[in-house]
Amino acid sequence: MDSYDVIAPATGAVLTTVPMNGVEETDAAIAAAERAFPGWRAVAPGDRARLLRRFAAVVDAHLEELAQLEVRNSGHTIGNARWEAGNVRDVLDYYAGAPERLSGRQIPVAGGLDVTFHEPLGVVGIIVPWNFPMPIAGWGFAPALAAGNTVVLKPAELTPLTAVRLAELALEAGLPEGVFTVLPGRGDVVGQRFVTHPGVRKVCFTGSTAVGKSIMAGCAERVKRVTLELGGKSANIVFADADLEKAAAAAPGGVFDNAGQDCCARSRLLVQDSVYDKFLELLEPAVKAFRVEDPALETAQMGPLISAAQRSRVESYTSAADVAFAGSAPDGDGWWFPPTVLLARDTADRHWREEVFGPVVSVLRFRDEAEAVALANDTEYGLSGSIWTRDVGRALRVSRGVDSGNLSVNSHSSVRYWTPFGGMKQSGLGRELGPDAVLGFTDVKNVFISTEE
Ligand code: NAD
Repeated sequence: MDSYDVIAPATGAVLTTVPMNGVEETDAAIAAAERAFPGWRAVAPGDRARLLRRFAAVVDAHLEELAQLEVRNSGHTIGNARWEAGNVRDVLDYYAGAPERLSGRQIPVAGGLDVTFHEPLGVVGIIVPWNFPMPIAGWGFAPALAAGNTVVLKPAELTPLTAVRLAELALEAGLPEGVFTVLPGRGDVVGQRFVTHPGVRKVCFTGSTAVGKSIMAGCAERVKRVTLELGGKSANIVFADADLEKAAAAAPGGVFDNAGQDCCARSRLLVQDSVYDKFLELLEPAVKAFRVEDPALETAQMGPLISAAQRSRVESYTSAADVAFAGSAPDGDGWWFPPTVLLARDTADRHWREEVFGPVVSVLRFRDEAEAVALANDTEYGLSGSIWTRDVGRALRVSRGVDSGNLSVNSHSSVRYWTPFGGMKQSGLGRELGPDAVLGFTDVKNVFISTEE
């Protein structure tokens, strides 16, 4: 089997080498997952729950190791990386509660008994991007396994290390061979095989909208179930009646966290006319104080970008734009980029319309509530967003008016595993997390039993 180098984004140095799986290895892993499926679905609900809880406990015991691995492989700050490993543990614990609660219904009918079952689908293929390697993997595999499916998972080429380790920890926790397999490799080889292989019954894809569309088209060939979590261009709307100090202090975290490589990044900042100048005055020191440094330092708020290619991409947005002000970033090796605030001339600006996926926020002013909602919705994306106001009625009206799957008022709420997450419009299809996600890994079967003599 071929192999490839994994690079540390904070230094540009080679970290390690991992196998590059091809179609043959992918087919073998899918076949093993198909063989493991009947046994796994037959594990008694309480026992499957216990195995998932044990998996969570093993992840917890290796939390620091996983976090340090993510700092090295992805350049995430150590604080974020600990949260991410803890998120995998918590998501496993949460869905470990699902097997004994996966009840069907008993529906009144004449002449018999009608009941429904939530049947697992079979093998589920999960395709993960590089920006949040651990959480996004867990949001797929935890509910899929809880519902009785077996899983094959492809991490992003750039960030395979924590996923590979999680698969080892699953075995250590006692999950049977073939139930959860991680396959590093290329998207257009391994990922594409998940789409075309008849044995894979559902594909969960997180990544770019362009690839997501091709995955959906491919899944249509076999009427394969598909969940898509795609890009975003979320708005952070600041009304004149907001607590401006608080909104300005929170704005950098809402867009520069994970170096802006976050599908939920509030990368369009809409500020009401009457407080526009004052808000930018408050924002400048907050941006300049945002600590961009070695992600292994406890004080780091932001690390490097994931790759040289990503840095060039981000630069292509800022080089021709009006820069209001920028923070700082280390010089030297690694793919560093400072937090940058751009002034949008109008909504046609490329940096206003396209997902930059870097530490860049574009600012535009608005007159009134109607215009704020119209500007927020003037995008094909609809993933996230924030609304800052002290007026409860306005908070509710704007929350209902903005076409996004996840909104927060007077905060940039991060994802909570027990609440649903997903996008509207071209940001995605289906929902992950929350109480209902496990149902997305099942099909409903209706059974009628005659009581006639
Ligand atoms: P990407 O679409 O290039 O890759 C994502 C994954 O898909 C990778 O594992 C890749 O190997 C695989 N892939 C690529 N081509 C494929 C193909 N033809 N068939 C099957 N799999 C294929 O995206 P990326 O650059 O890794 O991630 C950045 C993008 O992901 C951003 O646009 C971001 O907004 C989006 N994202 C969305 C969410 C969300 O929840 N909505 C979360 C994280 C990232």
